[in-house]
Amino acid sequence: MLLAACEEGVTSIHKENKAENESVTDFDKKLKIGFSMDTLEEERWPRDRDFFKEAVESLGAEVVIREAKGDDTLQIVQAETLISDGVDLLVIVPHNAEAVATIVNKAHSAGIKVISYDRLVKNSSVDLYISFDNELVGELQAQAITKLVPKGKYVYIGGASTDNNAHLLKKGVFNVLQPFIDRGDIQIVYDQWTENWTPENAFANMEAALEINNNEIDAVIAANDATAGGVIKALEAQGLEGGIPVAGQDADLAAAQHIVQGTQTMTIYKPIKTLAYEAARAAIKMAGGETITTNRKINNGKLEIPSLFLAPIAVDKSNIDNTIIADGFHLRDEVYEKT
Ligand code: BGC
Repeated sequence: MLLAACEEGVTSIHKENKAENESVTDFDKKLKIGFSMDTLEEERWPRDRDFFKEAVESLGAEVVIREAKGDDTLQIVQAETLISDGVDLLVIVPHNAEAVATIVNKAHSAGIKVISYDRLVKNSSVDLYISFDNELVGELQAQAITKLVPKGKYVYIGGASTDNNAHLLKKGVFNVLQPFIDRGDIQIVYDQWTENWTPENAFANMEAALEINNNEIDAVIAANDATAGGVIKALEAQGLEGGIPVAGQDADLAAAQHIVQGTQTMTIYKPIKTLAYEAARAAIKMAGGETITTNRKINNGKLEIPSLFLAPIAVDKSNIDNTIIADGFHLRDEVYEKT
């Protein structure tokens, strides 16, 4: 349904050249959308890039994409260049939630609106935030794991503290865990952010968690599948894989394989195509001067930002075929390849 809605919408605007000595009226000039991405390192982001490009182009506009390779300064320079090159609207996936606020100011000075894609730009007057409900992602992870392990020692492997999503995810996890902690049923025996979300840093964190606790750990909630992968490697090194429930998110192929093999308990499936098409539709409408109807507001430290939240889906062994595989997110053969 969401995708069908994306097929309508403004595909071009009429831009009149106001200069007196020019007779050319530039009708039907294509809208140009800038897409400033943090990274393409993890499995999901090339999908976001490709679907966003496909969506914008299918709506008759063009897109210029830049990847900052996890570098704040580069992301700012790239976004400034997109602004000076005359994009009609800027869509941004911030590497650092705070650092890129300056881009929003610069874009606004040039009369360009900014959409925060998947991750929120903090302390700025960004015009729209579109994402999956990250707090709900954390809640779904913790609900799944507490069902299996209602009592015991828990490890939380967070995301990058520079990413606002990492904070929302953790909030969601602890919304569910807190009553268990208050009753004394669950103890948090290790809780750490993972710099830049890398599997290597998550592996090091998990090694530390195991060492500090003499391997006596009952469950692990990791902020995404990349970090869950690091956790599973650390468990494997101790021969503990498969015996300790592990949660992740993103429905990466490796995570889907781990789920069917039994070394990861669950992941969260976020249909990226829907996010990319919704963002593209909003971008084109807003660039054409239309307003967007939103379903939420989220405080970014400065303002209540109009937000569009999509629903994440919890996936484990029991529904992997009906979700990730049925949607064509991964092929069945790839998922079950190593079983
Ligand atoms: C995204 C996750 C992703 C993580 C690392 C988060 O902001 O929501 O899907 O795994 O960044 O790139």
